[in-house]
Amino acid sequence: MNRTIYFIEGDGIGAEVWAAGRPVLDAAVAKAYKGERSLEWVELLAGEKAFKETGEYLPQVTLETLAKAELAMKGPLTTPVGKGFRSLNVTMRQTLDLYACIRPIRYYEGVESPVKRPQDVDMIVFRENTEDVYAGIEYAAGTDEARRLIAFLRDELGANVDAEAGVGIKPMTAKGSKRLVRKALQHAVDNGKPSVTLSHKGNIMKFTEGAFRAWGYEVAAEEFADSVMTEDAATAGGSKPVIIKDRISDAMFQNVLMYPRDYSVIATTNLNGDYISDALAAQVGGLGLAPGVNMSDDLAFFEPTHGTAPTIAGQDKANPGSLILSGAMLLEHAGLPEAAALIHKAVDKVIAGKRVTVDLASQIQGAEVVGCKAFGELLGE
Ligand code: NAD
Repeated sequence: MNRTIYFIEGDGIGAEVWAAGRPVLDAAVAKAYKGERSLEWVELLAGEKAFKETGEYLPQVTLETLAKAELAMKGPLTTPVGKGFRSLNVTMRQTLDLYACIRPIRYYEGVESPVKRPQDVDMIVFRENTEDVYAGIEYAAGTDEARRLIAFLRDELGANVDAEAGVGIKPMTAKGSKRLVRKALQHAVDNGKPSVTLSHKGNIMKFTEGAFRAWGYEVAAEEFADSVMTEDAATAGGSKPVIIKDRISDAMFQNVLMYPRDYSVIATTNLNGDYISDALAAQVGGLGLAPGVNMSDDLAFFEPTHGTAPTIAGQDKANPGSLILSGAMLLEHAGLPEAAALIHKAVDKVIAGKRVTVDLASQIQGAEVVGCKAFGELLGE
């Protein structure tokens, strides 16, 4: 795999988490492969830095380069307030067809957690990233568009909708659902994970969330027949490495808190995935330790899950952990797992040493607060 990594610094705390985090990634690669391998970083402009230098928040050249890239990483981006601006993140996700948002959630010993058995928390969420209520098809109550749509729904389809309702559309396709579940199943098979759980609200939204469930089982049966079986098949004595099961999302939220050991890979729809990945991150240390990647079939675009944290930007208070752990995911994906393992070991060690950034210090008994830069240095030692 080409190891050129295109990177976008990002706004707010972006510059400082990169300054603290990138040397940790370079050092891990140098150490793991005794200086024989290295990462080639190429900066792309987006966000406020791009606006200052080019007058555009998302220059075309950035999108064109990413469209041909295999590996990229970004810091958080602010969406400029005001009419006429779409979120840069959403624009990139849709233009580059980054259909799978993947977030691992793992417990770090010593961090206080609201769950009873945090050491059982080792999950990875695959969230569909392009469809569902996030497709942006929404009309405000009282607008011509909403009224026309409601008239059609009432007159043509006999739907019982108030004429003055705001209306949102939740499109979900077989293609979108299947490619997401396919990625989750492949991950489980490749990494020896015991199960994939489809989380959905199909009891209420039968033709969207329910269809997601059905399409998920279809992919498993048609494309993974040798390695994946249903819970029923397992109960009947079947023996295959991965079990596919499904849970209604509200029950699923309870279950991941009460019985985290029963869940490993979670494949879910866009809105459910948004909620569950933040809720899971909160069980194990919060946004400062929550890495992620958005993937298309060609590009893996890694990013911390947090935003620009404007109230602490420029104060050396941000936790670079989420960016560094996103980098560890990138290293693993790029075929450099030994370097990724060094990073995980370093995070374990530094947290155990109780010298951490302020967000973590409030969750670790007796911890000493260090700045963003110093935290990065401790991780790079
Ligand atoms: P946020 O993640 O920036 O902040 C939420 C809370 O977490 C704040 O209290 C913040 O101080 C804290 N926090 C976040 N990251 C931290 C870190 N690394 N270390 C320590 N504390 C951290 O979310 P928000 O306030 O809702 O959003 C702020 C801006 O970021 C908005 O413009 C939003 O659009 C943008 N945003 C961008 C992305 C992205 O680029 N992927 C994601 C979320 C939000």
